[in-house]
Amino acid sequence: MFEKILIANRGEVAVRIIKTCRRLSVKTVIVYSEADRDSLAVEMADEKVFIGPAPASESYLVIDKIIAAVKETGAKAVHPGFGFLSEKVEFAQRCADEAIVFIGPNPTAIRAMGDKIESKKAAAAAGVSCVPGHIGEIVDTAHAVKISEEIGYPVMIKASAGGGGKGIRVAYDRKDVEEGFPAVRAEAKNAFGDDRIFIEKFILAPRHIEIQVLGDKHGHVVHLFERECSIQRRNQKVIEEAPSPLLDEATRHLMGEQAVALAKAVGYDSAGTVEFVASGQDRSFYFLEMNTRLQVEHPVTEAITGLDLVEQMLRIASGEPLAFTQSDLSIKGWAVETRIYAEDPYRNFLPSIGRLKRYLPPIEGDFGSYKVRNDSGVREGDEISIHYDPMISKLVTWAPTRLAAIQAQAGALDTFAIEGIQDNIPFLAAVMEEARYRSGDITTAYIKEQFPAGFKGAPLTYKIQCLMAGVGALVHMRKLARDANISGRMTPHKSIRSDWVVLLDNTYHPLHVEITPNGAQVRFENGEMIDIISDFQPGDRLITGIAHAEGVFENEYFAVKFKDRVQGYQFSYRGAKAVVIVATPRDAQLHAKLPEKITADNARLILSPMPGLVVSLEVNEGQDIKAGEAIAIVEAMKMQNIIRAERDGKVAKVHVSAGEAVAADEILVELG
Ligand code: ADP
Ligand code: ADP
Ligand code: MG
Repeated sequence: MFEKILIANRGEVAVRIIKTCRRLSVKTVIVYSEADRDSLAVEMADEKVFIGPAPASESYLVIDKIIAAVKETGAKAVHPGFGFLSEKVEFAQRCADEAIVFIGPNPTAIRAMGDKIESKKAAAAAGVSCVPGHIGEIVDTAHAVKISEEIGYPVMIKASAGGGGKGIRVAYDRKDVEEGFPAVRAEAKNAFGDDRIFIEKFILAPRHIEIQVLGDKHGHVVHLFERECSIQRRNQKVIEEAPSPLLDEATRHLMGEQAVALAKAVGYDSAGTVEFVASGQDRSFYFLEMNTRLQVEHPVTEAITGLDLVEQMLRIASGEPLAFTQSDLSIKGWAVETRIYAEDPYRNFLPSIGRLKRYLPPIEGDFGSYKVRNDSGVREGDEISIHYDPMISKLVTWAPTRLAAIQAQAGALDTFAIEGIQDNIPFLAAVMEEARYRSGDITTAYIKEQFPAGFKGAPLTYKIQCLMAGVGALVHMRKLARDANISGRMTPHKSIRSDWVVLLDNTYHPLHVEITPNGAQVRFENGEMIDIISDFQPGDRLITGIAHAEGVFENEYFAVKFKDRVQGYQFSYRGAKAVVIVATPRDAQLHAKLPEKITADNARLILSPMPGLVVSLEVNEGQDIKAGEAIAIVEAMKMQNIIRAERDGKVAKVHVSAGEAVAADEILVELG
């Protein structure tokens, strides 16, 4: 094994590699750009080498700088991670020339698989089933139309040098080809500096299924089964799992055999992935391309095989033969990975950059019936910059069955708190709850078909409404109890009343709330009940506990995210968001009169900013007032606070009288 290696990457994958190196007592050197000076990877590595400005083209992609860093630090090998230089044959070749071990496949294998047209030729020769189409270059639009018509629509127009979902277009008819061919060609020239295009059949109900392979330098190749990565947006993976719900044993075996045959044919000697597109209709499958590197979604394979792929790459690169054969390998349980991105799911997944004001991932570990792993390269306070990939982390859960792994994933997402930037957690959580996803009936069009108008938040199902009303009542009761405690001389009359009204999703639900020793019990108008047990305390931003409600929650663990609002509370759970207002029946009537119930014109209502006692009222009904004028004096914690009007107006109604105790956000005065 190596004594010291250099990691030519950043962020999440760099941290991932460092973790394995530490376990194997291999020292690490990290290279870093200006933007990554204070990054977690730099903090964790044993040594660091500065390689230049933030843009990757001036730092992480400059081969000379990486090679110089290896020499300077005396590292014996380089792990390229994924992205950046990982699939650049020039880099692998340069390492070989300089007698530096490249922790990846040999340059010949990278060259053979780096190009889609060339790799399809190699695959066809190795007996791998390829997508019907034209394995060769298309010369012009007329040629493209001719080939497309021979193949039969729909077809896919692809850049041979393509990657990362770029340079791909589906054509359903002649017109699409006439428009699409020049467009893909221009995009390919732009993005990859190579405008060779080919055309193949578009597989209907396509599913992306790929086989992880491992080859050593002694001619042994095994496969580590499949991953399904059909949940994609713009041909980019968002959610992955292993194994695939589509495959039966026979298909799995066939796919695995073909992947191994291809890897052997090109002398593959590291971890790699053979991608297939499979038809959900008949389980037929076709080779797409081979990725000659560690894959982003490799942790799901690790979770079901118990192997550490980075460790395997290091062992292979240092010359060790594989320590197992195909028959030693088997699939244990099910794993699901979600990619957490800095993007706004409510605004067409627009990238969102900025500082992570809060970053609280779920607790990782083995919890007996399930496991949680979070691969991330960030800490609270870090900046998500425009320079690199917008991925914040990869959350992986494992359990014995697919549904249990999905359930564990949903539960982990519920507790994952990110603030300061937008993230796609609500979207991922909504997918985990969604029936079609749960059934396993997925294709690469899933997101487009399931969220045709974009993501607007998960629906507030009966189950979620029930939970939100329950936690709303609980939070309210706990706050009243605390307020009564703080100001000892206040009559805590509000905390003992049991008739409340909750405003949720623009509808009113009268509730009967009983405080129980560890929580609250809420009975709805129709007689249904929810029991919440929780140790929530005012100030907590996550409400965790156990919920029981006939038919929807069977003593189920829950975690609901929580934010205080001027009026009420904002809760989010499984991608559903709602503002919940818990009010007395009298206040609820007021809320009812507001034209827009949730986004009320706050300046019209003058609220008590804190719980306390009304010392005096300075205004009467019908009186004209000016902005800044005193409305009332409220005393709390021995301090008198003058409550002032935020705008001019006429006092329409006075809701309290001197000497009365008020809760936080209780309405004092309403302006006309
Ligand atoms: P796959 O999932 O098949 O491995 P991707 O295209 O999603 O394919 O993964 C490779 C991509 O990972 C790169 O193109 C790049 O956008 C992204 N990437 C590169 N370096 C990092 C990194 N350090 N952390 C997170 N993502 C990275
Ligand atoms: P990239 O190099 O960008 O990863 P791929 O060739 O792997 O390009 O294709 C990206 C995605 O496009 C695949 O994951 C798959 O979902 C879809 N795709 C590619 N080829 C086909 C095809 N012939 N039919 C249907 N879907 C396809
Ligand atoms: Mg691909």
